[in-house]
Order: sequence, then C-alpha cells, then structure tokens
Amino acid sequence: MENLTNISVVRDILSRHGFTFSKALGQNFIVNPAICPRIAEEGGAKSGCGVIEIGTGIGVLTAELAKRADKVVAIEIDTRLMPVLAETLSDFDNVKIINDDVLKVDLKKIIEEEFGDKEVFVCANLPYYITSPIIMSLLENRLPIKAITVMVQKEAATRLCAELGSRDVGAVTVAVRYYSEPKLLFNVSRGSFMPSPNVDSAVIRLDIKNNRLVDDEQHFFKVVRGAFSQRRKTLANSLSSSLSVDKQVVTEAIVSAGLQENVRPEQLSMEDFINVAKSVKKV
Ligand code: SAM
Repeated sequence: MENLTNISVVRDILSRHGFTFSKALGQNFIVNPAICPRIAEEGGAKSGCGVIEIGTGIGVLTAELAKRADKVVAIEIDTRLMPVLAETLSDFDNVKIINDDVLKVDLKKIIEEEFGDKEVFVCANLPYYITSPIIMSLLENRLPIKAITVMVQKEAATRLCAELGSRDVGAVTVAVRYYSEPKLLFNVSRGSFMPSPNVDSAVIRLDIKNNRLVDDEQHFFKVVRGAFSQRRKTLANSLSSSLSVDKQVVTEAIVSAGLQENVRPEQLSMEDFINVAKSVKKV
C-alpha cells in the first residue's frame, strides 16, 4: 500500500490523476502520519464495528479505519476523487465509497443496510465550510451511532465542547450537550495538512446520549436558536425579536423560569433552557 502521508507520494498520485485542490470543498488533506491512526483508535474503530467516514480526500483516514473496523462506508462529494480512491484503497475489500453530498444522503438507511446490528461510529476530518450543518444533522436525526469523532477548526472545537454557562457557548453548543457528551481529544497544527489551512484544528469526540430531555424538541430548539440569534444581547431582547413576542411578555416568562430579567443566553444551564422553553410556550 502506498504511503498516503508521504508528500511526494501524494503529489505523484494527484498529478497522475490531474487533481487540483478545491478550496470551496474544504480540501485540506492530512499528511502528518501521527494523526489518522489516532483518530481511528480514539474514534472507536475496531473489529466488530462499522464506521461512516465523511469526506475521504485521497483516503488517508479511510485506510486507517479500514485496517481496524469490519467495514467502512465513506461519503465523498468530489467525483474527481473516485479514480484516485480506486487506486489508493485497492488493498481493502471492506470499504464502500458513496459519491454524494453527505447532507443529501439518507444516513439512517445506509446504516441499516450496510451495518446491520454492528456498533457504528462516525469518524472524519470534516470539510470546515459545513462543520455545524453536518454535526447538527448527525445529532438531530438520532442516528443509531455510538460516537462522532471529527477534526474541526480549533475555534469550532472550543464552541462545540464549551461548558454551558461559559462565554464560548452558542446554539450549537446547547444542541451538542443535549444529544451528546463532548470531549476535546487533541489539537492538530495547520502544518499537518496539504495544503496548509490558515487556522489550527482539533479533534473532538461526541459520545451519543439516547435520552430525551423535552417532549417538544422542535419548540425547544426554536427557543435555543432564538436565544442566540443576536450576539451580546440579553435573552429577553433576542427572544422577543426572534419569536416576535412583546418584550414585556418574554421578560415575564424568563422571570417565571427562575432567571434574572437581564440574563444573557450564555449564562444559562441546560435546565434553564428547558424551563425557559416551557414558560415561553405558555405565552
Ligand atoms: N479525509 C481526508 C483527509 O483527512 O485527508 C480529506 C478531508 S478534507 C478536510 C474534506 C473532504 O470532504 C474533501 O475530500 C471534500 O471533497 C469532502 N467534502 C466536502 N464537502 C462534502 C460534502 N458535502 N459531502 C461529502 N464530502 C464532502
């Protein structure tokens, strides 16, 4: 098997296939040999399990996953990479590549059809331009998966793994905490990629929780998104404008949820969000 972290090998493969990097598709491929084995190990890839990968690039992480798991199903949007992958992953008979947009495929169906009763993990070096939509769609669809281990921009990792009540919290943080237990695994410098991005990265793991904290999740997340719709505004101001409800009425709902009327959304705990959603529903 070719060494997919050796820069001259990678350059040779790409030039033979006439491949040029697409910035729009977030194509920064890993060339630091220490990273992919670590993502695969800490992401849960092991004998007896299945792995879904999002965005293969030339298959450097795919190969590490395929060495460890029973089966890997990888979704890659860029058709130009298909002949490259046919070459770089030719040693593996347990990899299936789906040439599609991860936000358009039916992952639930894929998991059922491809993995049966196996434990399933998601592992990826995500395309950074759609980090949040991908993570939200994996979480909101309540897929039968154990954990999501992904490389994201360092700043996104901080937000995704923030503790509720801290200043880095955003709507996506509340969703991550609602559906999973997040953990920052390790940092990755920008020099680990080809081409090098302008920012450093980090690998995070979200262990999926299967409990349901509220009955009406749609309403709950409408309130959460509304709470963070205007950065640095109070909860009352943001909710009043996002939900088109009079500020006085919203303020009363916030106070009846046991909070100060000028509280900011980043100060709330999960229980506070649940209480605010309940009391806002009554107005
Ligand atoms: N896993 C490879 C690695 O670590 O070297 C590539 C990671 S690169 C950051 C992101 C990959 O996601 C690219 O191969 C890109 O073409 C692919 N990609 C971008 N948007 C996608 C989408 N909507 N659905 C599936 N794959 C996508």
